[in-house]
Amino acid sequence: MEQRYYQPEIETMPVEQLKKLQSEKLVKQVQHVYDNVPYYRNLMDEKGITPADIKGIEDLHKLPFLTKADLREAYPTGLLAVPQKDCVRIHSTSGTTGRRVVAFYTQHDVDLWEDCCARAIVAAGCSNEDVCQVAYGYGLFTGGSGLHGGSHKVGCLTLPMSSGNTERQIQFMMDLNATLLCCTPSYAAYLAESLKEQGYKPEDNKLKAGIFGAEPWTEEMRRNIQDALGIKAYDIYGLTETSGPGVAFECSQQNGMHINEDHFYAEIIDPDTGEVLPEGSKGELVFTSLDKEAFPLLRYRTRDICVLSRKPCACGRTHIRMSKPMGRSDDMLIIRGVNVFPSQIETVLLKEGYSPNYQIVLDRVNNNDTFDVNVELNPDQFSDTVGGVTKQEKALAAAMKTMLGINPTVHLVSPKSIVRSEGKAVRVIDKRKLIDSNQWKG
Ligand code: ADP
Ligand code: ZN
Repeated sequence: MEQRYYQPEIETMPVEQLKKLQSEKLVKQVQHVYDNVPYYRNLMDEKGITPADIKGIEDLHKLPFLTKADLREAYPTGLLAVPQKDCVRIHSTSGTTGRRVVAFYTQHDVDLWEDCCARAIVAAGCSNEDVCQVAYGYGLFTGGSGLHGGSHKVGCLTLPMSSGNTERQIQFMMDLNATLLCCTPSYAAYLAESLKEQGYKPEDNKLKAGIFGAEPWTEEMRRNIQDALGIKAYDIYGLTETSGPGVAFECSQQNGMHINEDHFYAEIIDPDTGEVLPEGSKGELVFTSLDKEAFPLLRYRTRDICVLSRKPCACGRTHIRMSKPMGRSDDMLIIRGVNVFPSQIETVLLKEGYSPNYQIVLDRVNNNDTFDVNVELNPDQFSDTVGGVTKQEKALAAAMKTMLGINPTVHLVSPKSIVRSEGKAVRVIDKRKLIDSNQWKG
């Protein structure tokens, strides 16, 4: 397959040259932040570091980390590095794990972010001949604006659908012959299901690719979506704090996401000790924005757990690849003392032939955790007898026990009875009212 790039000279830059570029940008960036962000200058002063101590990437480890707690403390403008009049936009996190964070963008920052999304769109095999349906939410959430901007840069015909209104999504997808679908993987699965219900077969749509991200999804889910829509499904990763989607994206190899290293320097650290780990180790992903102006975070701890690889990629891109995040360090549930990631449950469901529509409900009764998993049956999985359903529930619970080490109570529920999210799926309802360690003041 012919490889095409949006910015070939950068995307295929030899690694040595790339590292030099990163070092040059970092030196400037540290000075910029030190001069303009008193909050960050204080952190550096406390550690006894000055910008002169940072001569290149090899000195990065000397700088302090920034955490989500720092961002919350600095809310809303405490980390702004340019005069507000130079900013053209804000976005905000979806608040999955607490108080929202507000990120600021200059026009330069918007441009570089949209370039990153354009790289992802071209890597998914698209060009100005394509029709790009953006079904990520628009507004404060970064998904809609990011892919929208990338689509414009590539020159696709952009359908700015935003999320929701599934009937209209399907109508425009069909009537305007959308070839690329961009949304969360859970919404892609929902759209696929709705298309099937309306009698459409995978070959009835003109879609060839999908760019899905903003939440964890498994390889099994990828296969399901690909089969149901007749497309290739590509992963895309990002977070509001660093700009939005497009920090990393998958290429034709669908084997890890290339990090846009000319803009974002990635490290993997041990989340407990903060020690920088060698390439190939699993740990927490940390990003440094190398050339953002308004909201340039240095050594920002994402809390996403993954692995980096510098192994050459057949697509020709030289930028380092990250694995799918294996759940956030704070996504992890502790149930009866055992660590459980929702993605493990999804893996079991898809392996056993169930839909990825599920919800975990946790409660605490007499000091014991209750652990229930509601799973939707596919329309063709209905069992006529109550006994049949009970047997299916037991078998599924046993498969989950094998994966997790603890026993959930499984409830098979009728198709479409779990509320669908148009953005990020709500997988966990935790009623245990445990103390939120983020809020604990000691
Ligand atoms: P919030 O932290 O409120 O959800 P964001 O909307 O900025 O705010 O979400 C960023 C987070 O979404 C990332 O830190 C990561 O945990 C998750 N995420 C984004 N893209 C992906 C992806 N492709 N796979 C798994 N998780 C992802
Ligand atoms: Zn590649």
